[in-house]
Amino acid sequence: MSEMTDLQKNLRDLLPGMELRMEEPMSRHTSFRIGGPAEVMAFPKDREELAKILKVSALLDTKPAILGAGTNILAPDDGIRGLVVCLKDCMDGMERTDENHVRIMAGVTMTRAAMFAANLGLSGLEFAHGIPGTVGGGVYMNAGAYGGEICQVCESVEIMDMAGNLRTCGKEKMKFSYRHSILEEEPGIVISAVFRLEPKSAEEIKARMKELQEKRSASQPLNLPSAGSAFKRPVGGYAAALIDQAGLKGFRVGGAGISEKHAGFAVNLGGATAADVRNLLRQVSDRVYENSGIRIEPEVRIW
Ligand SMILES: Cc1cc2nc3c(=O)[nH]c(=O)nc-3n(C[C@H](O)[C@H](O)[C@H](O)COP(=O)(O)OP(=O)(O)OC[C@H]3O[C@@H](n4cnc5c(N)ncnc54)[C@H](O)[C@@H]3O)c2cc1C
Repeated sequence: MSEMTDLQKNLRDLLPGMELRMEEPMSRHTSFRIGGPAEVMAFPKDREELAKILKVSALLDTKPAILGAGTNILAPDDGIRGLVVCLKDCMDGMERTDENHVRIMAGVTMTRAAMFAANLGLSGLEFAHGIPGTVGGGVYMNAGAYGGEICQVCESVEIMDMAGNLRTCGKEKMKFSYRHSILEEEPGIVISAVFRLEPKSAEEIKARMKELQEKRSASQPLNLPSAGSAFKRPVGGYAAALIDQAGLKGFRVGGAGISEKHAGFAVNLGGATAADVRNLLRQVSDRVYENSGIRIEPEVRIW
C-alpha cells in the first residue's frame, strides 16, 4: 500500500475508533457507479461522531463533502482529494411525534420513510416512495415526483452546521424551491426532518404508492446505473420531451448514453466515465438549445 497522505494520517490520529477508509472508490457509493477514490471517506455512526468529524475538519482547515446515498451525484474520475463523509448508514430512526407529525432521521431512505408513514395511516409522502435517496439528500435537493415535493410536507429541519452545532430551521427558512434548498447556499448537514402528514387509510396510501412504483418501472430505465433525471425541468417544457424531440434518445458518448426508455435519464451503459457523462450532458444541452431555443441544466450534482 502506498504511503499515507498528511490528511489521512491526521484524520486517523485525531479520530481514533472512527470508521475511515483510505482511497475508497466513489464508484462504490454512487448510483451511476462512477467516480475515482476519495482520499478519505468517513462513516460516522451517529451525530456525535459526525460532530467530531466536523470539528477535526475545521481544525485541519478541510471542508468535507457530504454524501447521502449517492443517487444524485456525478463523482470525478480522478477522485476527490479531501474528506468525504458518508451519511447513508448514519442517523437511522423514525418516530411519530403526534397525530399528524413524523420525525425522520436523515440517513433513512425516502422509500422507508414513505412506508413508515403509510403503515401509520399518514398520507403525504407517497411521492417519495421509489426515490432512491436518503431523507437528508431529499431535503437538500427538495426532491419531488408525480406532483409531490419535500417542501409540501416538510415542517422543520434539524441542521448541524459545519462547526458541529445544531439548530432547527422552520420550513420558511429552508428557502425551498424547485430542486433547491438553503443548504446549497449555507452549508450544513441535515440531521432529521419533521413532516406534517394527513390521516388516510393505509390501504389507499399503499395503493397510490404501488401505482407510482408501477409508473416508474414502466417508464424509467431502473435496470441501468443512473442518477435519475439528468436535467432539471426547464421553464416552459419538460427536459425529457425536449431531448426526445431533438432526436437524442439512444445518443451516446463513450459508455454513457441517453436512455432509449426515458429520454430524461443519462445512463451508464457499461464502463462510463464521469468525463463521458459530463460530455454527454453538455452535448445534449447544446443540441436541445439548437432545436428548441430552451437551455436545459443538469439536475445531477457534478462534483
Ligand atoms: C433511479 C433514480 C430515480 C430517481 N428519481 C427521482 C425522483 O423521482 N425525484 C427526485 O427528486 N430525485 C430522484 N432521483 C435523484 C435522487 O434520488 C434524489 O435527488 C435524492 O434526493 C438524493 O438523495 P441522496 O441521499 O442520494 O443524496 P446524494 O446524491 O448523496 O447527495 C445529493 C446532494 O445532497 C447533499 N446531501 C446528501 N445528504 C445530505 C445531508 N444529510 N445533509 C446535507 N446535504 C446532504 C449532497 O452533499 C449532495 O449535494 C432519482 C435517482 C435515481 C438513481
